[in-house]
Amino acid sequence: MNSINDIFQSAALLPARYTLLNAHVPAALLDCPASDTYSTKTTVRIANGFIESIEESPSNTQNYRNEHVKEFVFDLQDATLVSAFVDPHTHLDKGDLLSIGLHPEQDLFDAIKSVRADYAQWTENELRTRIEFALQTAWVHGSRAINTFCDWAAPGGPLAWHVLKELRQEWAGRIELVLTSLARIDQLADHQYSTNLAQTVADGQGVLGWFIYPEAPVNLLSKAFDLAERFDLRLDFHVDEHLDPPQGNLGHVTKLAQERDYGKRTVCGHCCVLANMQADSRDSLLDAVAKAQISMVCLPFTNLYLQDNGLTKDKSGRKTPRLRGLFPVHEARARAIQLAFGSDNHRDPFFPAGDLDPLQTLSLASLAAQLDNPVEEWIDTITSGPARLLNLKWDGVLRRGAPADLIIHRGRNSAEVISRVAHGRIVLRDGQRLPESACLPDFRQFDNLRADINAA
Ligand SMILES: [Zn+2]
Repeated sequence: MNSINDIFQSAALLPARYTLLNAHVPAALLDCPASDTYSTKTTVRIANGFIESIEESPSNTQNYRNEHVKEFVFDLQDATLVSAFVDPHTHLDKGDLLSIGLHPEQDLFDAIKSVRADYAQWTENELRTRIEFALQTAWVHGSRAINTFCDWAAPGGPLAWHVLKELRQEWAGRIELVLTSLARIDQLADHQYSTNLAQTVADGQGVLGWFIYPEAPVNLLSKAFDLAERFDLRLDFHVDEHLDPPQGNLGHVTKLAQERDYGKRTVCGHCCVLANMQADSRDSLLDAVAKAQISMVCLPFTNLYLQDNGLTKDKSGRKTPRLRGLFPVHEARARAIQLAFGSDNHRDPFFPAGDLDPLQTLSLASLAAQLDNPVEEWIDTITSGPARLLNLKWDGVLRRGAPADLIIHRGRNSAEVISRVAHGRIVLRDGQRLPESACLPDFRQFDNLRADINAA
């Protein structure tokens, strides 16, 4: 019998067949959780990269040891065991623009302007460097799948789209990369342009994503559904990333998704305006979202940073934010809306931090949205929830036959895990630890990146 330290400290390959005893698994990740608990002491047998069996741990560890002397067993001593993470909403095309000279903007539309003005500088080499940095980071933290949006700045698909498609192939097996276009809905007015866009997205097996901003021409929204139906694509909207209820557009998306019976294939991200609506109208809008079966993605990092940022117009003054940019996740959950938390931007003009670590996102959300027992009760928002709304092959539930793509954290409950998210974690993929060479990339690789490209 080996202890938890053995699996953490051993650099050697794990055997093809082994058992994790006394793992603390949140009920959301079990097929048949014991009804009165939100987590279960579990024994998971791994064989050849898959879960061979999963059952409640025996009450007497000593007896188990005597009965299974020939097995290779690690006693996890109540350490937390969850499936590998899934990140439903990122912008890898823009990641790390701060490292090469851009500045944080503190306002959504200033950030959009700053990035647009920078597109012309983006080269294939620079995009590869920035996106690979992000993929490596996410993989080391324990993500198995990521959805990234890609700003749509050219009719036949931007350079970043082509780079992302190549990287999707190169990273298959480590990160499953889902690619989603991001175009403003006024571009739907140009039939040829938007049809080409949808065709390019369909050819790239992507998802059709649109940005619905305040005062957007929502009369064009039905064309987004037309294109999705015609090209058999899922839809993913950036909608209501602000706190001004009269400008809200989520209701328009919801109405169309309901009419077209397209809600199960529709995701709405941000939806911050719900945080600042009167309770009655907020609740009836959430009722409609639930009825349409739309999934919602909450982005705590960027929306805590950008919303109600307290800057005066000339950016000379500051106040502490009073309003928060999170949509009401408890009320959404109470209606059984499919929910997920995502990273959104990282180290770009929209948000000057972030490291594509879903557990860090859950930790932030647990404070910002007051989630009780975030690991036991909300772990699905960074594992099975996003897996379902991205329509991944594996939903992240631990069951016989599922891949052994797992995270072990030394913490035995939410308090211990959330207090120490960055430490005490190991990632298992196909039942093996990541290779020793898998470490977080160094920011210094961005030094002179753009200068070197321009000089070349
Ligand atoms: Zn976004």
